Amino acid sequence: MREIGHFIGGKKVAGTSGRTSDVFNPATGEVQAKVALASVEELRAAVANAKAAQPKWAATNPQRRARVFFKFVDLLNQHMDELATLLSSEHGKTVEDSKGDIVRGLEVCEFVCGIPHLAKGEFTEGAGPAIDMYSLRQPVGIGAGITPFNFPGMIPMWMFAPAIACGNAFILKPSERDPSLPIRLAELMIEAGLPAGILNVVNGDKTAVDAILTDPDIGAVSFVGSTPIARYVYGTAASNGKRAQCFGGAKNHMIIMPDADMDQAVNALMGAGYGSAGERCMAVSVAVPVGEETANRLVEKLVPKIESLRIGPYTDEKADMGPVVTKDAYNRIQGLIGNGIEEGAKLVVDGRDFKLQGYENGYFVGGCLFDNVTPEMEIYKTEIFGPVLSVVRAHNYEEALSLPMKHEYGNGVAIFTRDGDAARDFASRVNIGMIGINVPIPVPLAYHSFGGWKASSFGDLNQHGTDSIKFWTRTKTITARWPSGIKGDAEFVMPTMK
Ligand code: NAD
Repeated sequence: MREIGHFIGGKKVAGTSGRTSDVFNPATGEVQAKVALASVEELRAAVANAKAAQPKWAATNPQRRARVFFKFVDLLNQHMDELATLLSSEHGKTVEDSKGDIVRGLEVCEFVCGIPHLAKGEFTEGAGPAIDMYSLRQPVGIGAGITPFNFPGMIPMWMFAPAIACGNAFILKPSERDPSLPIRLAELMIEAGLPAGILNVVNGDKTAVDAILTDPDIGAVSFVGSTPIARYVYGTAASNGKRAQCFGGAKNHMIIMPDADMDQAVNALMGAGYGSAGERCMAVSVAVPVGEETANRLVEKLVPKIESLRIGPYTDEKADMGPVVTKDAYNRIQGLIGNGIEEGAKLVVDGRDFKLQGYENGYFVGGCLFDNVTPEMEIYKTEIFGPVLSVVRAHNYEEALSLPMKHEYGNGVAIFTRDGDAARDFASRVNIGMIGINVPIPVPLAYHSFGGWKASSFGDLNQHGTDSIKFWTRTKTITARWPSGIKGDAEFVMPTMK
């Protein structure tokens, strides 16, 4: 059986802990590899490599650091088919969808090609008599990233690209469900000219995560995953004196106003609800039509589209979506659908028994649609993370607005309308981090930043955009006065600019 180890000190190394986890092909249910789960000692070895390599990298001028990313972007484009297929083989999503995953990471690599400009400090000439004041952005030293299974290309790149461009060394702890792509990305970074030891990939589970959170040499931790673990990582990292940004789960609503272009809204819901089998943190899982007539029209148009979804393995180029990631995920989703029925929601499209010939042991769940869902139900409160869309019928705009506002999560939300006033009011009042106006998955582009509110995010700086440069650097401010400017005696009062 193939064993996936780690990437430390510029090369692949085998795991030595003796502990492994199964990596499945979600379309067949077969174990296709075993991934090593690092011990504390293995994590420490990666940190030691990072620590030895980082000062020289930080002292490398920013144009040269940028050039590694120019080259890396080229390599990603050259290897796109290979990378996307590798990703799909462990995640299960379609190859085209995996390309989107990689491209959204690649765009952050393009963004950090501007690091000479992005990480510039500030300068004030004459802040006082013969006094100049300036600030520097210096790397935190060693950064770490802990990533989820659902975007094994994009999210690692969101983290390691700005961290490394800013002059840090990096320890990536990817999801143990789909660990192969992150190792391949690290190999390509070396091919692009990154010195050994700057990007290390350590596979593992809670043992590796806890070793990261308590390691005295790691200065900043970025986490993306489920909310309970995000909360835990944030608290533990902070209590160990580390800077942390931790992004959690979601329940993204889409409001459909009576004046919305219904065909556009339905197509948007299909892609955002069922693309990637609903396993996106920005997936729309709740549709909120305003008014009975809007709701009836919406459900009527959705049903045939959901029933005709093409579901298949990643090797099926025409598939709209693939299986979910593991048997555990499959069972959890089936259980939640059962809850919804027991609680009285109407299962208008039932995909529970979906089976694909030749793939009977795969983790396929057919598209499901619940109507008449209410906020008290478990399927409304919980992130299902599967191809299950809930319709919550709202009587009016205010009621529709109040739903995402009262929900525990605050990652993304969308409104479909032709009314500019309604859209503007919505964007201004809703307490959610990322808003789409006639856009179902409003993931900001690389030069803006990504992050939710409420239980979807812990910490105060977002992913990518200028926030990422702030997160991966520390500010140092220098106040300088040269001897020719010094006059007078000792001053014992607090210095001010009189
Ligand atoms: P997860 O929380 O199970 O795992 C995320 C990471 O945490 C993995 O690397 C995993 O190994 C590690 N981990 C798991 N259990 C741990 C524990 N007890 N202690 C320490 N570390 C642990 O998440 P997942 O199932 O891989 O990903 C899906 C979740 O991620 C969903 O909730 C989804 O909404 C969320 N997500 C959020 C965003 C965002 O930006 N807000 C983006 C993508 C995914």
